[in-house]
Amino acid sequence: MERKAVALFSGGLDSMLAIRILQEQGFEVEALNIRTTFDCCRVPAAQATSDLGVRVTVLSVGDDYLDILRNPRHGYGKAFNPCVDCRGYMGRMARQLMEEIGACVVITGELLGQRPNSQKRPQLDIVAREAGLQGRLLRPLSAKLLPPTIPETEGLIDRERLYDFTGRSRKPLIELAQRFGIAEIPAPSTGCALTEKTFAPRVRDLLTRHPGADRWDFELLNAGRHFRFRGGIKIVVGRNEQENATLQGFFRGRGTRDAALIEPENFVGPVGLIVGRADEESTALAGALLIRYTRQCDPSNAVIRVFSDGEERVCQAWPGDTEAGVERLC
Ligand code: SF4
Repeated sequence: MERKAVALFSGGLDSMLAIRILQEQGFEVEALNIRTTFDCCRVPAAQATSDLGVRVTVLSVGDDYLDILRNPRHGYGKAFNPCVDCRGYMGRMARQLMEEIGACVVITGELLGQRPNSQKRPQLDIVAREAGLQGRLLRPLSAKLLPPTIPETEGLIDRERLYDFTGRSRKPLIELAQRFGIAEIPAPSTGCALTEKTFAPRVRDLLTRHPGADRWDFELLNAGRHFRFRGGIKIVVGRNEQENATLQGFFRGRGTRDAALIEPENFVGPVGLIVGRADEESTALAGALLIRYTRQCDPSNAVIRVFSDGEERVCQAWPGDTEAGVERLC
């Protein structure tokens, strides 16, 4: 078996170190960066893998990832993060790549005890089992505190040159990074919106009010301010130019669902997206929200353009009550 490894790679310091540890033992490492629906770990991965001199494969999770979110076998963390199930899912993707490229092991930057709900010993065992990686999932940073993996027992990996770090302290990891000559040490971040308590109301709302929600609905959670209105209608309002463009993109990709796009016609302001029936009431509320979130508008003369059902029209918007009967989903 070749000295080849697949690294589940977030772009964070822990997974960078895991790669360097195996490289120090003569391993060729291929990084696997997995993109979830919730923006985990996107930005730093490309630069970090280039600094480490490893090839990176970037894959997105499939629609079946949403089943994990809807009904995680091992529960949620402090917010809506189903970390144990999610890690098992990513482990399966890594196993597939391991088999494809003839690697003998999957490595991760997980540390024993670093996260209370997903990185204790039982959870690490569950992840390995659910990924189908028993004996082939190595956590180099904590490996000496865990049973030896198959490549260790076969002598491909020198267990003595692995580590016994545990807990949340970054100090020993930064020292190790300095010993390895890693110049750019990334700041700690999960990069995953599911771990944010402020994001949780959006997920909870979607799961409870819209059990048939699909990828479009889940991806929409990442953009704008979200408001739930009577009859289950949702209105999303962009917070900046980028989100306005994102909402326009969502509208274009809405498929067969009821939706309408609301744009300011004679003032500079945000874009709104109605998900559900764009009747008079919901359109009036969307217009009022656009006025509420702009400072450059004469509210007595605010005109909006409404795109819906393949047609467009312009109408007056009024600064109405945007609180009564409206739930703001953070
Ligand atoms: S924080 Fe948890 S839920 Fe989010 S991507 Fe990482 S493992 Fe998955």
